Amino acid sequence: MFEKVLIANRGEIALRIHRACREMGIRTVAVHSTADAEAMNVRLADESVCIGPPASRDSYLNMAAIISAATITGADAIHPGIGFLSENAAFAQMVEEHGITFIGPSPEHLIMMGDKVQAKDAAKRFGIPVVPGSDGEITGEAEAKRIAGETGYPVLIKAAAGGGGKGMRVATSEADLMAAYTMARTEAKASFGNDAVYMEKYLSHPRHIEIQIIGDSHGNVVHLGERDCSLQRRHQKVLEEAPSPALNAEQRARIGKIAADAMRSMGYKSVGTIEFLFQDGEFYFIEMNTRLQIEHPVTEMITGIDLVREQIRVASGAPLSFTQDDVVINGHAFECRINAEDPETFMPSPGRVTDFHAAGGLGVRVDSALYSGYRVPPNYDSLIAKLVVHGRTRNEALMRLRRALEEMVIGGIKTNIPLHSRLIAAPDFINGAYDIRWLEKFVAGEI
Ligand code: ADP
Repeated sequence: MFEKVLIANRGEIALRIHRACREMGIRTVAVHSTADAEAMNVRLADESVCIGPPASRDSYLNMAAIISAATITGADAIHPGIGFLSENAAFAQMVEEHGITFIGPSPEHLIMMGDKVQAKDAAKRFGIPVVPGSDGEITGEAEAKRIAGETGYPVLIKAAAGGGGKGMRVATSEADLMAAYTMARTEAKASFGNDAVYMEKYLSHPRHIEIQIIGDSHGNVVHLGERDCSLQRRHQKVLEEAPSPALNAEQRARIGKIAADAMRSMGYKSVGTIEFLFQDGEFYFIEMNTRLQIEHPVTEMITGIDLVREQIRVASGAPLSFTQDDVVINGHAFECRINAEDPETFMPSPGRVTDFHAAGGLGVRVDSALYSGYRVPPNYDSLIAKLVVHGRTRNEALMRLRRALEEMVIGGIKTNIPLHSRLIAAPDFINGAYDIRWLEKFVAGEI
């Protein structure tokens, strides 16, 4: 096992990884920008190294500075966390070239899943169901018309280099197809410098269902069920739950097995998430995240498995500590992403936290690096806390979530806690009857 792990990230996820390391008897090195010198994970780490100024490109994305910090401190491994360099194959490769273990999948899998067209192609090859559409890039207008005719309207034109929902256009009939095609290409070129686009059947009311998998370097891959992340605003997840209220045991077992079998054939090692749209009983692959996910705690709550600990273990070469049969889903969990932002306008609200009190009690977990007096810097993502609850049933978890939200105190800055409180009181949410477009309508006051 590693003796010392460098955590190349910040905020709550850096603290989450620190906690797993400490429980494994591993020493930690925090790296931080000048804006994060006072951060909780920096204070708790055994050692810390400042790697640059606040701008991410000069600090958390600065590969040379991070690798130098690992070398100077004698770290055996680097955990990249989420975002930043976590899915960067060049970084993973560079880390390994310095004789340090990258806690994540192989660079080959990072590359394969980092490109949307390649990823969809690989998914298909390994037996994962995908959205019907073009086989890779569309080469011209005639091809666009032909494929749309085959799949049926509406269709979605998507940028091959896309991300964050940019470069996507819906065409409802052949009459809008050319305009949508041209606009998607123009937007793709402007946003990503690459005008390659592909086409998919447009799903009108899907849910976002994702399967958590983990593999080791001995050929074992296990799935840990699904998370329902349909509550999204501008393609950002807001509240997640597991299990999904929309799946039955047969659907869960079927898609979980498909995902685990595909990852086993690929030789995937580390944690990973296969994301699907789910509509009318069918699953359609959209992408794979080759890293830990922000919402991993809901899976931990219903399985009792520490995913970060397991991820570190498999990176060190150890076999998985459990088999598929050992994974038993117990009860229900929710996670609210608490952001430093105005709950009405969604404008970021950085600044000094005057008071912080985390909810507690049975079945409540708060993952946050906040403390009273902490200043939320304006330079990064606005996620400041995750409130996670577990109950024996969905209803018990929901009642617990309601009371835990009432207990949370974050003073001095605005947060989206009022939005969460409103959201969990909505009858559609209580009934689990929502798709990926529901939250936008709710926020717009249409529900
Ligand atoms: P990005 O990488 O830009 O986030 P994704 O392929 O993950 O692109 O799609 C982003 C979001 O767009 C999905 O979460 C879903 O809400 C929507 N979406 C993607 N493909 C389809 C589709 N075929 N039909 C309907 N909605 C889709």
